[in-house]
Amino acid sequence: MAEFDVIIIGAGVVGSAVARELSRYAVHAAVLEKELDVACGNSSRNTGMLHAGFTYKPGTLKAECAVEGNQEFDQVAKELEIPFRRTGKVVVGFNDHDMENLLKFKAVGEKNGVRGMQIIDKTELNRLDSSAGGEFAMYVPDSGILDPMQYTIALAENACQNGVEFFFDSKVTAIERTKDEYLVKTTKGEFSAKWVVNCAGMYAPEISEMLGYPNYPTKGFKGEYFILDKKAGKHLNIPVYPAPNDKGGFSTHATPTIDGNVLVGPDSYVTEGREDYAVTKEHLDGLIEDGQKMFKHMKREYFIRNFAGIRWKRYDPETGEILDFLLEADEEKPNTVNLVGIESPGITCALPLARRAVKIVAEREHLAANPDFNPCRKGIRKYIEMSTEEKKQAIAENPDYGEVVCRCENVSRAEILQAIHNPLGVHTVTGIKNRTRATMGRCQGGYCETRITKMIEEELGIKPEEVRYSKNGGYMFTGKVREDV
Ligand SMILES: Cc1cc2nc3c(=O)[nH]c(=O)nc-3n(C[C@H](O)[C@H](O)[C@H](O)COP(=O)(O)OP(=O)(O)OC[C@H]3O[C@@H](n4cnc5c(N)ncnc54)[C@H](O)[C@@H]3O)c2cc1C
Repeated sequence: MAEFDVIIIGAGVVGSAVARELSRYAVHAAVLEKELDVACGNSSRNTGMLHAGFTYKPGTLKAECAVEGNQEFDQVAKELEIPFRRTGKVVVGFNDHDMENLLKFKAVGEKNGVRGMQIIDKTELNRLDSSAGGEFAMYVPDSGILDPMQYTIALAENACQNGVEFFFDSKVTAIERTKDEYLVKTTKGEFSAKWVVNCAGMYAPEISEMLGYPNYPTKGFKGEYFILDKKAGKHLNIPVYPAPNDKGGFSTHATPTIDGNVLVGPDSYVTEGREDYAVTKEHLDGLIEDGQKMFKHMKREYFIRNFAGIRWKRYDPETGEILDFLLEADEEKPNTVNLVGIESPGITCALPLARRAVKIVAEREHLAANPDFNPCRKGIRKYIEMSTEEKKQAIAENPDYGEVVCRCENVSRAEILQAIHNPLGVHTVTGIKNRTRATMGRCQGGYCETRITKMIEEELGIKPEEVRYSKNGGYMFTGKVREDV
């Protein structure tokens, strides 16, 4: 049985952030994840906004962590070598009620510590982005955009390089309290640890119950998206959100991605299915209608793909009220930290939440600092981001930079090789996609997916039938159709 000081359950953005913050200390820690990679839950199914924090009730953990997470992010992005742009955001309105709500949430934002928000007229809105809908807007300069998969990968890689071990395909099925530690049973064997931190996202209520806390009620608010081609991205400089409703919720918005696409969505409706990620004609039609109000270039010719994510919100079953993030450590369940209901803005709040979780462990264990901790992690050097001179030099040093494997996104063989040999040991096609963007372009892998599969086979010395797309059991090939080839 593998023995650790701390076990973190879940390798989404929150679990990966906890792992990274914990690796500042001299502890033997492990992350247990049921899927084959990090960011397989809602951490890869969201808008990728670094929220500023103007819609969250002052004094809540959400408000506190959002503002803290937002304002530190330039430094975080630098340390983890991830792409990030502080684009600002326009929250647009059309009528008097929208203006009332903009003023209301401007005041909330100011209370929370959000900087520089201003109400702007149509002329100023058009100057910021002529493709934005709306008669006026609130401009929020603190908002930014990032790639949530790259961010989660970077946090996990940095944790791993600082000594945390990751176990994939290891679903936690039961937790028992033995004399002074926890026995954690998984589909890949048993682990023991003095501390357990619950970061299981949508399944956090079940893990919470395994630890002796309540199985907190949560409700799933599903949202569907369109991903638009980079041709649409040329028209949009800044995220365009509609004025929030009275409770601070947003309907469909248009957001440029850090790589130059545009996301239109999400809408929001209640779902029962934990992993109900199907997209539906009814909701996509709604996105087209609402998206056009935010982004004047929402055209069918730009549509390349759709996806959905689900915000699992904790709520009060008696009143129906949506509750704050929960981060608790009850002495009666010794040496546990329980995080439940980490819905939006969980990406923005991941590191602040992680610091609070780790502080609880560090104070009770009086942990020593990890003398080898390095907050900086090197990302994969991207061919598409190089100047012509840099490209020439990169190819001279490593000829694999001269072979483009994904033609839509200009991803070279050198990048795919670095992704295959990633520090976390992830070997799925989606894992390569999330690390390099190969298969994310207009042709959606039509050209490069089989080439990437072949490279995985060759580099790892495995058979074609062993390569998985993203999930356990999701094989790229199931066998030969002709025995003579
Ligand atoms: C539509 C949508 C839009 C959003 N937009 C934004 C945004 O723009 N900005 C922002 O800041 N936030 C946004 N969010 C919120 C953000 O995506 C989430 O808050 C965040 O990803 C939650 O991270 P997590 O690590 O808690 O959960 P997850 O990413 O779901 O990770 C939990 C992990 O635990 C694993 N797990 C579960 N059960 C077990 C088990 N029994 N054993 C082992 N592993 C287990 C899962 O496989 C998963 O990998 C959005 C969310 C949605 C759905």
